[in-house]
Amino acid sequence: MGSEPGPFLIDHYNRRLSYLRISITDRCNLRCLYCIPRKGVPKLRHEDILTYEEILRIARIAVGLGVEKIRLTGGEPLLRKGIYSFLPQLASLPGLKDVSLTTNGVYLKGNLENIKSSGIRRINVSLDTLHREKYERITGQDRFEAVWEGIETARAMGFHPIKINVVTVKGLNDDEILDFARLSLDHPYYIRFIEYMPLGMGNPVIPLTHVSTDHIKEQLKEIGSLTPVTSGRFDGPAERFRFKGAAGEIGFISPLSHHFCATCNRLRLTASGSLRPCLLSDIEEDLKGPLRDGASDMELADIFKKAADMKPPSHYLASTGSIPPSGHMSAIGG
Ligand code: SAM
Repeated sequence: MGSEPGPFLIDHYNRRLSYLRISITDRCNLRCLYCIPRKGVPKLRHEDILTYEEILRIARIAVGLGVEKIRLTGGEPLLRKGIYSFLPQLASLPGLKDVSLTTNGVYLKGNLENIKSSGIRRINVSLDTLHREKYERITGQDRFEAVWEGIETARAMGFHPIKINVVTVKGLNDDEILDFARLSLDHPYYIRFIEYMPLGMGNPVIPLTHVSTDHIKEQLKEIGSLTPVTSGRFDGPAERFRFKGAAGEIGFISPLSHHFCATCNRLRLTASGSLRPCLLSDIEEDLKGPLRDGASDMELADIFKKAADMKPPSHYLASTGSIPPSGHMSAIGG
């Protein structure tokens, strides 16, 4: 029998792990060229993916260990059947303070009522270009209009904040940095530039090179100066700014150039039921096996503590500059 579930998960470097990202499916309708190889990746078998009941149990245990914020991701979370019955159950877990969703936005528009009625207001939409043809080139699907309509409808329905995640890759979309940033002037969107991370992509379709946050900040001077915005409790690692008088914000997530490992408060639950203490490391602890073998809540809580104990002080790329991990974002949960 394990120890009593403690009030908090605190790792060896005194980081309190209060944020769980849950990948509810490894399936995605898109093939973003920096994320999944065009031919796809082997899919998990249906029975290897955690059921909603299992996810809810794990989430409840996590909340008992001080997790306050959960983000659903994937794969594409809106692809998974039954998600709209699951969302309100998750959002109403006692003690959970924030539930949010990261989506590619393709299926957003028709499902916003369901998302809203579950109590979720914070959504992140991944969108790397404002041009239809380029969107198809990046994702393999001609769905730019659907995504944009989803974003606009979400805004009209009062979702806030709507964060637009832009993974910037040299020669692919770095010519759109100013256009994305200008969107924040008269739209209440939070545009977040994310440095591309070289994660297990094998042979990508095009050479993939990240664009550093410093380089983007330099470009943005053409629009005006950026004033820092104080981060809220549930904001995560983005550095936040605003142009004077702007309706929206600009954020930077810089896992390569200014990694935020020292303050990383995250654990990830993969679609196949493992806990990963670091996105950029292959270390993981299996939860699904023990759970299906009848482990008690306390035993499962101990697995959380074990995963916290294994959280590295900083990620591979920060410490060695190389050795990308083997998993794909779609399975780990980006
Ligand atoms: N399907 C959902 C979506 O598109 O937002 C959720 C999953 S997706 C893997 C989550 C986020 O990871 C997206 O914003 C995506 O752009 C980002 N991402 C994927 N691969 C990445 C990489 N190699 N470097 C940086 N971000 C990446």
